[in-house]
Amino acid sequence: MVILKHLNEDTSWLIQFTFNSTPFNILIDPWLKGPQTDYWKLFSTQWHAIPSCVEHISDLGVQIHAVVISHEWTDHCHKATLLEVEKEVPVYATDKAADIIRSWKHFDKVYNIPPLAPGQSWKTSSINGLPKQLGIARAASSQADFQYYHSASNGIEEISALLHGLHEVTNPKVLGGKLNLGGRNAVQVAHNCKPKLWIGTHDEVKVGKGLVSKVLKRRIWSVEEALKEEGLADSDAKFRVLRSGEQVEFD
Ligand SMILES: [Zn+2]
Repeated sequence: MVILKHLNEDTSWLIQFTFNSTPFNILIDPWLKGPQTDYWKLFSTQWHAIPSCVEHISDLGVQIHAVVISHEWTDHCHKATLLEVEKEVPVYATDKAADIIRSWKHFDKVYNIPPLAPGQSWKTSSINGLPKQLGIARAASSQADFQYYHSASNGIEEISALLHGLHEVTNPKVLGGKLNLGGRNAVQVAHNCKPKLWIGTHDEVKVGKGLVSKVLKRRIWSVEEALKEEGLADSDAKFRVLRSGEQVEFD
């Protein structure tokens, strides 16, 4: 059984697996409270608009077995929150995030998340001490776009849940351009992967200060609008929003 718990309205998750009656709990991109600043305060500082369901990692009341960090930006790679995780817990992070986390000298083990090679089965992506049933890999990399992957070629017979938001967030090109791909990309991914459940993530309209908050553009797509724009007839997955602290369970 798997429990997927949204720790806030943004992009922090707790995934709880049970393998042969043994629990295995993974934190994904935990940012529980306080500001997140990229580069310097007057450039971009944001706070959660809706509080996370807990203030501290210890308030979750479960042992954490692994942490996964998907991006180097501080809304995903949040130092103050991550320093609350015990140093023995292994961290799996994308390349730039892994370098940043190693520089803190807090965690004993920080592993880079490898890309899933085209044609490589996800079943062979269990790395560095994870239970053999569990793989962590990047579907998108500098070598291959996410759309390149087809479920059959990677041995993924069935996708239980897709986490993808509807908000399309864009900075001016000089400040990095597109930040969140939003609803149009989401319906394409859902169409290609055919997950049983599609859950929104990273769609919190945060409280922002600094230059970025003034120039950031946010387009909030509805599923229907995005489907129409992409020329898709119907969504292959049921879209669901989990509020701060809400969870779903599936087998
Ligand atoms: Zn982000």
